[in-house]
Amino acid sequence: MKQQVDVIIVGARVAGASLAILLGEMGKKVLMLDKSSFPSDTLSTHHLSHLHYLKQLDVLDEVEATGLRKIKRMRTYIADSFIEGPRESYTLAPRRDHLDHVLINKAISYENVELLEGYQVISLLKKGMQGEVCGLEAVDKRGGKHTIKAPITVGADGKNSSVAKWVGAKKYGEYSTVRPVFYGYYFNVKPLMEPTTEIFLNEGRIGFLFPMEPGIDCLGLEVRPEEFNKFAKEPQSFEETYRQFYGMSDRLEEATLQGRIIGTPGVPNFFREAAGKGWALIGDAGHSKDPSTGLGINDALMQSSLLAKSIKAWDQGESWEGVMKEFQKRRDENLGPGYRLTLDYIQTRKPWSANESALFQAMAANPMVWNRVVQHLPDVLKQHSEETPELYGSVEYEAKNFGFHY
Ligand SMILES: Cc1cc2nc3c(=O)[nH]c(=O)nc-3n(C[C@H](O)[C@H](O)[C@H](O)COP(=O)(O)OP(=O)(O)OC[C@H]3O[C@@H](n4cnc5c(N)ncnc54)[C@H](O)[C@@H]3O)c2cc1C
Repeated sequence: MKQQVDVIIVGARVAGASLAILLGEMGKKVLMLDKSSFPSDTLSTHHLSHLHYLKQLDVLDEVEATGLRKIKRMRTYIADSFIEGPRESYTLAPRRDHLDHVLINKAISYENVELLEGYQVISLLKKGMQGEVCGLEAVDKRGGKHTIKAPITVGADGKNSSVAKWVGAKKYGEYSTVRPVFYGYYFNVKPLMEPTTEIFLNEGRIGFLFPMEPGIDCLGLEVRPEEFNKFAKEPQSFEETYRQFYGMSDRLEEATLQGRIIGTPGVPNFFREAAGKGWALIGDAGHSKDPSTGLGINDALMQSSLLAKSIKAWDQGESWEGVMKEFQKRRDENLGPGYRLTLDYIQTRKPWSANESALFQAMAANPMVWNRVVQHLPDVLKQHSEETPELYGSVEYEAKNFGFHY
């Protein structure tokens, strides 16, 4: 098969499908290819906070239609104490097979958008002295070879992006900390009064509990790097560790695991060059980071939105080099704060010392401490923001929505 389109997108999950929706709306002839078939799952948990992107794509109602709980609170445990508060707006925890499928269905509802499932892209076509990308070759499940041409090829093919490799996109801002993550789905975990995202900071590990539909939760665990083999070989370690978290032994009493515990040795941290002649990267292909802050899906949707705007500007006569330079600049400005906070978060994940835990427990139980401490919090956070510039800014940003003025 030989075909000519306006934009080829390699990878049809959150990054690829969301871009296809935006380009479909613009009337572009788009071809998405993915080696997977849909609906299908992928390695990811489900924290989704920036829901305005789904609203803009006109898919929020459908994503919520499976009966997802609206998660309005967040609780962070330090050893056996916790702090809890409302969130500025609700979050969701949709399964990835569902979320990706809703996005794909919306994309292919445009006549000018097509999806080829079970098609593995095997190489890029290039032309001219500068090797401008002008299309690609793919093989289908029966081994049939296909050539597709387009002035723009987008790699939305994940953190191990082949498109990035074939164009030689350089990595930068790399950081080596890689932390293993395990997760599983549990029925009948005793719920809190209101749907709440729970974060357990314990012994240098991070537990995270995301309420999905009523009666089912996703339980995750980021463990210490040296623990990967133990947790991979002995899946019961997952539940044993979870039961040590405050209240969880009782709350897991009637709970049952659905399926098995899934894990990865870790997710790399980097940026990649965002674009070049005839190509661009979005989603994890352009930027990958540890999932502990649960930002990857939002980031993918944000990058699609920026790239669609840049392609529109190019359509209106601006130079490709100019619009892609702007795309990369805005992408990095948007992703920088979350990246730095994530790196800071995973680096400071050490076990609490006995003294730290004891002090926190005592403070949590003593309202007088909070009377005294809260008034100084802005200054303390500002002081720490010298090392992590976004720390104060991110708290202030959310606090303003609860009426905070410094
Ligand atoms: C354990 C874990 C937990 C996570 N938890 C969260 C969370 O709670 N919240 C959050 O926001 N993010 C989370 N993330 C991150 C999030 O999953 C990613 O940021 C997100 O999936 C990136 O989407 P993407 O579309 O860029 O890439 P992907 O989801 O990786 O999709 C890439 C697609 O490209 C296709 N592809 C690849 N190569 C080819 C090829 N050669 N030809 C054809 N198709 C190809 C693949 O089949 C795949 O479908 C987590 C990640 C991990 C690993």
